[in-house]
Amino acid sequence: MDCIFCKIANKEIPSTIVYEDEDIIAFNDVNPEAPVHILVIPKKHIASLEAAQPEDAQLLGKILLTIQHIAREQGIAADGYRVVNNCGELGGQTVHHMHFHLLGGREMLWPAG
Ligand code: 5GP
Ligand code: ZN
Repeated sequence: MDCIFCKIANKEIPSTIVYEDEDIIAFNDVNPEAPVHILVIPKKHIASLEAAQPEDAQLLGKILLTIQHIAREQGIAADGYRVVNNCGELGGQTVHHMHFHLLGGREMLWPAG
């Protein structure tokens, strides 16, 4: 499958990996929007949050707790951080392998653009 994040998960495309286990990989965004900007993805190809299934419930929960773990490791947990999932065209999703942005190290604006 021609999916850039599957290729990153398979190490066919290099990235700066900050966390990895059997289900999840996290790496620095190539175009960071904040001092800390990490993408957290399942190794399994799920096209978007909209494409997730009931059997992915445990994986989805694990991703959020992994984000918590990475935020603590990165030293941004105490000050606070933002987690973003862009889903579908109007959601601004450009890579069609579900991913969660972990952003921190600066104050975030709200509402998002
Ligand atoms: P989306 O807009 O789909 O929510 O986010 C896609 C993100 O993937 C963007 O922030 C973009 O900078 C990042 N990205 C796209 N291609 C690559 C790549 O090859 N490597 C890395 N590390 N990040 C990428
Ligand atoms: Zn994929």
